[in-house]
Amino acid sequence: MAMKKEENSKMEEIISLTKRRGFVYQGSEIYGGLAGTWDYGPYGVALRNNIKSLWWKKFVTDREDMYGLDAAILMNQNVWKASGHVSGFADPLVEDLKTKKRYRADHLLEQAGFEVKGLKPEQMDALIKEKLVKSPDGNPLGEVRQFNMMFKTYIGAQQSDDSISYLRPETAQGMFVNFKNIRDSFSPKLPFGLAQIGKAFRNEIAPRDFIFRLREFEQMEIEYFVNPAEWRQQFDAFYAEQYSFLTDSLGLNPSKIHKVEVPDADRAHYSKHSVDTEFDFPFGQKELLGLAYRTDFDLKAHSEASKVDLSYFDEETKERYFPHCIEPTFGVDRLMLAVLSDAYTEDELGGEGEKRVYLKFSPKVAPVKVAVFPLLKNKPLLVEKAREVYQMIRKEIPATMFDDNGNIGKRYRRQDEIGTPFCVTIDFDTIEKDNTVTLRDRDTGKQERVAIGDITLHLKEKLLK
Ligand code: ATP
Repeated sequence: MAMKKEENSKMEEIISLTKRRGFVYQGSEIYGGLAGTWDYGPYGVALRNNIKSLWWKKFVTDREDMYGLDAAILMNQNVWKASGHVSGFADPLVEDLKTKKRYRADHLLEQAGFEVKGLKPEQMDALIKEKLVKSPDGNPLGEVRQFNMMFKTYIGAQQSDDSISYLRPETAQGMFVNFKNIRDSFSPKLPFGLAQIGKAFRNEIAPRDFIFRLREFEQMEIEYFVNPAEWRQQFDAFYAEQYSFLTDSLGLNPSKIHKVEVPDADRAHYSKHSVDTEFDFPFGQKELLGLAYRTDFDLKAHSEASKVDLSYFDEETKERYFPHCIEPTFGVDRLMLAVLSDAYTEDELGGEGEKRVYLKFSPKVAPVKVAVFPLLKNKPLLVEKAREVYQMIRKEIPATMFDDNGNIGKRYRRQDEIGTPFCVTIDFDTIEKDNTVTLRDRDTGKQERVAIGDITLHLKEKLLK
């Protein structure tokens, strides 16, 4: 979609900052890149790990009804036949008849100003013909057809129909096929859930918007099994939990978060009710998370196809049935982009009328929580003291870094750009006068002097806020 100038430039700033500072690099960059793939550098990995561990804590460790899992990416092809992905996991594709470039039909229609929510591929086709919608290069378009997004591969040395496998397009199926294993090992009673974090792959027709639409990405998903009578209550409870994860755990701005009921025609083939959480990204309001009521679709389908009984005997009601499933699903990369774009801030604190750029991360997600510097790097006494303070703080706050690169102004700028909430500077007063250090707050730029003996506790209290 054509971005407005201002939005466009904000995305460009974010892309360039995250590259410059070691968060995100273009995949295979030295060979010209590979569309739909990005690589994460040290701060990117740290940010993602924070997002993932906050998620795991909230949804797995802090609950008694969740079971963690890490299933294989490659699965028996029958999994994807039974789940409906081989026949139905597709996006509407349309081709520019002249250039042969391919586009998502819904995206082209959206760009041309049409409402596409709820439209079936044949309706998109009719709309393109009726309104003579052209490609971005101004050429006529062909028929809209469904394009299956699974990456196909072959297992072993034989390339035959029997050796086909797919890179999983969602982590969910790993949980359905392990439903029985978890029941056998732990005998959980309903309601209970399985949770996992892992890579998923989709051959998106048009990957775009930086790390928003990728061909290789990471999901955090829960399959929560319930008695069908309870589905609505559990569904609403998970919506509230998803919301509080975004606001309380990640610190996202609530005014940018929107609840959107998914119309019937747009729901995935397995879902009876879906609510998306959309977010105001710099390029517009787009899906960040999903919540779907998958009913008993998957367990039933896998029971039939595998001939392994995945039904459940309910001791309370004395009934046997297939549990129904509520699926909250999160994309790590989209969350990372939401966190980055929400945190991206410019102000006038750069000094001498210069603008300052900083990432206003919540301390919980910030890759580096505290940076410690000596005021000057060529004064051994300052460096030695700064190292001592650094080692002391690091014992209690592991994400602390030592920084003596460049002058102090450059260090503040760097730490602001990677979103470090607090910087601690050791100067001559520390050594010659009063054993205090300067503590600088990222957001206000304000500095205060704190005694070395109090600094770690003081920082811990501030980081918890
Ligand atoms: P979209 O409509 O944007 O293609 P979707 O509705 O197909 O997304 P789901 O199938 O619900 O997405 O996937 C669950 C979550 O996985 C999404 O909410 C999103 O966070 C993430 N996700 C899906 N596709 C991609 C992708 N191509 N790149 C990055 N993240 C993705």
